[in-house]
Amino acid sequence: MTSLLLIGGGHAHAFVLEAFARQPEPGVSITLVMPGERAPYSGMVPAWLAGECRNDDMTLDMAWLAERAGARLVKDSVVAMQAAEQRVQLAGGEWLEYNQASLNVGATLEAPARAPGTQAPGAQAPELLPMRPLDALQERWPALLDEVAAWPATPPRRVLAVGAGAAGCETLLAVLARLRAERPDIDWQGSLLGQSAQPLPGAGRLPAWLMRRELTRAGVTWNGERRAQRLVDQGVEDDRGRVHPADLVLWATGARGHAWLTQSDLPLDDRGFIPVTDSLAVAVNGSEMAPSLWAAGDCAAFAPPLPKAGVHAVRMGPVLAENLRHACRGEPARPFQPQRQVLALVGTGNGHAIASRGALGIAGRWVWRWKQRIDRRFIARFTPPYKDQ
Ligand SMILES: Cc1cc2nc3c(=O)[nH]c(=O)nc-3n(C[C@H](O)[C@H](O)[C@H](O)COP(=O)(O)OP(=O)(O)OC[C@H]3O[C@@H](n4cnc5c(N)ncnc54)[C@H](O)[C@@H]3O)c2cc1C
Repeated sequence: MTSLLLIGGGHAHAFVLEAFARQPEPGVSITLVMPGERAPYSGMVPAWLAGECRNDDMTLDMAWLAERAGARLVKDSVVAMQAAEQRVQLAGGEWLEYNQASLNVGATLEAPARAPGTQAPGAQAPELLPMRPLDALQERWPALLDEVAAWPATPPRRVLAVGAGAAGCETLLAVLARLRAERPDIDWQGSLLGQSAQPLPGAGRLPAWLMRRELTRAGVTWNGERRAQRLVDQGVEDDRGRVHPADLVLWATGARGHAWLTQSDLPLDDRGFIPVTDSLAVAVNGSEMAPSLWAAGDCAAFAPPLPKAGVHAVRMGPVLAENLRHACRGEPARPFQPQRQVLALVGTGNGHAIASRGALGIAGRWVWRWKQRIDRRFIARFTPPYKDQ
């Protein structure tokens, strides 16, 4: 038997399991390692934050996919990898050996520094809501909502998002909409801090303008060309020493590789991501490291670099599935060709969304409905048909 180890329940691995369920591969035994049975689907995270869908509605049923593919599900986390020995260690201490392994473990982000004393009794550091990893966000947000339910109606409360990419803008608008609906007696004030001159750096002028308009509508103050340095009492200090007042901080800065990857003998780039060849095989200096190791989604560093977006993880999925199958048969892999310009659909927390592709942008309620249709179709594809939607 060839043992194929899938590490992480990311979007690409959902496609791998689907492909092996459709067409089982004789002589291949599959094991999936991930902490739980369900994995959040990034496209619906803002809708979940806004209270527009339940947790189950925005998660892929990886346990069901694994069962269909005849794969063993190990509910644990990988904490170390010895690629040279073809084995990984689980948090529970057990070692798993493999013939072929694929990593699709997403990303995390660098936690903000804290000024001394901000965690001392009586200190008033803002509440922190880190946007990655998504698993942790799923636990933290409901807990935070419980805390907010007990807050007094006065004074006004300030919500500050750090990071002005699509995730920062979209989640700030979603969180503000939810807080205003849950606690209409509190005056919620929003602000956004980013290093770029405009929100949505990298987007065309029109989509960036549309986002700026939505932020203004939601009463969000924009603080551009500033880098958040650390959490201080009642706010966030930027690189010019200015303190931005905040009761709640959404931390949505750039993605980083998981810390445990540094405990492995994998090559990593300067942000902790795993370099891959164009066929998604793990690479050293651009060429395949071993014909047994693969990485996809956010944890993979493709050349030239791709934005850390679910859409790329999704598109890598079918190619990864095919290449893993070929690798198990000892056949050559085919290249992944990323789309250079992807369609981004960003919700604005008011039943509208902005669609952007390159310089083009358009906004409206119909864009939100269009996004919902795409997202629901995606979830339905990876969820048992009998599930009550
Ligand atoms: C708030 C927010 C909103 C976003 N919205 C969008 C959007 O609308 N559209 C879009 O394209 N992108 C969006 N993104 C980006 C998107 O979330 C990521 O690019 C996408 O989730 C990456 O998918 P992935 O398959 O690489 O991994 P993930 O979806 O992150 O999945 C990783 C999986 O690996 C598992 N795992 C992690 N560590 C281990 C371990 N040590 N051992 C075993 N398993 C492990 C996790 O439990 C999880 O199942 C958003 C990001 C954020 C933070």
